[in-house]
Amino acid sequence: MEPEDFRAAGHELIDWIADFRTGVADRPVKAAVRPGEVRGAFPSEPPTGADDVRALLDDLDRAVVPGTTMVQHPMHFGWFPSNAALSSVLGDLASSGLGALGISWESAPALTEVEEVVCDWMRQLTGLSDRWHGSINDTASSSTFVAMLAARERATDHAQTGGGLGAHGRPLVVYTTDQAHSSVRKAALLAGVGADELRMVEVDPWTRAMRPEHLRDLVEADVAAGRQPMAVVVSVGSTGTTAFDPVDEVAAVCADHAIWLHVDAAMAGSAMLLPECRHLWHGVERADSVSWNPHKWMGTILDCSLLYVTDPEHLVRVFSTNPSYLRSTADGEVTQYRDWGIPLGRRFRALKLWFHLRLDGVAEIQTRLRRDLANAQWLAAEVERTEGWEVVAPVLLQTVCVRHRPLGPDGDPLTGAALDDHTTRWLAELNDSGRAYCTGSVLDDRWMVRVSIGVEATERRHVEALWHMMRDFAET
Ligand SMILES: *Cc1c(COP(=O)(O)O)cnc(C)c1O
Repeated sequence: MEPEDFRAAGHELIDWIADFRTGVADRPVKAAVRPGEVRGAFPSEPPTGADDVRALLDDLDRAVVPGTTMVQHPMHFGWFPSNAALSSVLGDLASSGLGALGISWESAPALTEVEEVVCDWMRQLTGLSDRWHGSINDTASSSTFVAMLAARERATDHAQTGGGLGAHGRPLVVYTTDQAHSSVRKAALLAGVGADELRMVEVDPWTRAMRPEHLRDLVEADVAAGRQPMAVVVSVGSTGTTAFDPVDEVAAVCADHAIWLHVDAAMAGSAMLLPECRHLWHGVERADSVSWNPHKWMGTILDCSLLYVTDPEHLVRVFSTNPSYLRSTADGEVTQYRDWGIPLGRRFRALKLWFHLRLDGVAEIQTRLRRDLANAQWLAAEVERTEGWEVVAPVLLQTVCVRHRPLGPDGDPLTGAALDDHTTRWLAELNDSGRAYCTGSVLDDRWMVRVSIGVEATERRHVEALWHMMRDFAET
């Protein structure tokens, strides 16, 4: 494709995107396709000729859009927000259009240095001290894995440079809670920590926050038994109920035993753009690594996960490979991001954050986050004052976890499997209606419904409409 053809097709595509976003609220929220239906709409043989962009846009409308759950829809309350601010979409396009190659500082000095600048802006915007040095990974899963590998090498005095884990001798132990995201378990297992050495620290029955006294007991017992504590991963905004582990008290345990502390703030990191929320990660300065996803609530389009560490030299020791064809005279003076993690080739992800911050402005993003927090408080208050409904976890962020408990045939509120049947029935009916979408989740062995507020387009009236629908589906 020549640049002039790109110009013409690109204008059509931009128009298509703008129309799509304008009309997103009129579509069903949940993709109403059966497994295989999208695949079946495509020819099984690869295309032979060259098509016009119009044909592709038609196919997008015909086969792709209906097969996509509309997470930008104002009535989407599922999972966590996965906002894709159009300002950041432009930055992503700029990144693709530049076609830069990030494999070393020399291959694209701007790619490296804009990432440094933008990570430092984000550090300041979230109130972190200048001890922290950031990089952008694809996802929080990758960020946590990188932190886990760094923790392992610190705990084993760089076993990888000698006999590896097999020669280390002492079993390595990782601590988290059963509220942590599945990526924490995945990272520990992939880093070579056996499932038997992954400790689930007790949580408070209401806040679901890690109990630091129990962490201390577990660590001391492991040390006494000849095992080696390797890392603690705290959740700052857990995925189920947005629980906040007490970072400061956990950090004290980690400091006493020289354990790596990783803060998984994938969702709640966005809230730290608001000074009034920063008490929720009090103690974060004592951690070794922190990660969070601008690609969730803040809304810089996927993929954009920040990872901050206090000691980047340690990352370099763990992740550096320095083949001769990648060496340059600038080594030693510049950041080589390939030495901060796993991939060699790097996208210019900093541009989407830069576009997002510059075109929307931080004040607008903060206003939106505050709107969502207020909407969550409004919904929680409505649920609490309505007969038969309950809020089942503290609402510290933008997610409201609820259950509806009608009276059973015996006149008592439903419990057990009957309550689960009721919850999963009304949730499925709500979601299948296409008019709104929420996610179910199991809490204390019972199904509940998470209402995760925070799509860019979601205003109070949408939350009000959802609450009416929830009552309709659950109470009839
Ligand atoms: C969403 C989430 C993750 C995973 O994020 P990805 O970027 O999709 O890997 C990890 N931890 C928490 C707390 C999350 O909410």
